[in-house]
Amino acid sequence: MTALDVAPEVAALVPQEDLVILERQAATTFECLRCRQPGRLPETPAAVILRRDGDVMVANLAHRSCSRSRVLETPGLAQAVTSPAAGSEAIAIAAMLPAGEAGFFTPALLVELETTVSHRVPETGDRVDQVLSWALGHGLCLMPSMDVLSEPVPGWAVEIRGERGLRVESPGDPLYDGELTVVDAWRNAVAQLRACYLLLGTGLHLREAPTPEDVLRRLDHAAETGWLAAGLVVVRLS
Ligand SMILES: [Zn+2]
Repeated sequence: MTALDVAPEVAALVPQEDLVILERQAATTFECLRCRQPGRLPETPAAVILRRDGDVMVANLAHRSCSRSRVLETPGLAQAVTSPAAGSEAIAIAAMLPAGEAGFFTPALLVELETTVSHRVPETGDRVDQVLSWALGHGLCLMPSMDVLSEPVPGWAVEIRGERGLRVESPGDPLYDGELTVVDAWRNAVAQLRACYLLLGTGLHLREAPTPEDVLRRLDHAAETGWLAAGLVVVRLS
């Protein structure tokens, strides 16, 4: 028996690629759907719980000691995830990321939406991540293809309010409205550029990342696996 328990009824619905991604992410960390405590594969055996509402399915992990692998019918799930901008909890981190030549850093804002949704498009059978496909449909691009000198993406804006206020506008909807901790180097760089890179991802567990190096490692990993959207966006300081 492996460390990841997948019931036949779950395996019948979740594409193998999704399970591979889930398992890979859980090797960094996962949050148990039941007790909300962290775990990590393979040290902590886990079970895949698939929450389902019609065509919309969300695969989560639980400690195997907390739940067996199963399909959980979850009415209302589809509504909660069709508008990622409205329904998600988000976390934002300001970071200086290495860019271009060695020793050169550029300001970036990392926003993690705490919804990992794999949605099967009925017409094509394609597997897409709701949040990412929504972001890509609104002008962001997948991280590896990010053009370092690109123009700001229309419709997106980052507003820094005073010492700690942050608002991220996406086309049509506010994406994040909350607090942000910034260091002077980041604030100065952003004030000069009037722009920063916005990186948008899911399943990164940035809240549990203990160090900046760990944040970078998780971003690299997400970029490699194609689960990170990015774009240059204008910044307003007020
Ligand atoms: Zn648990």
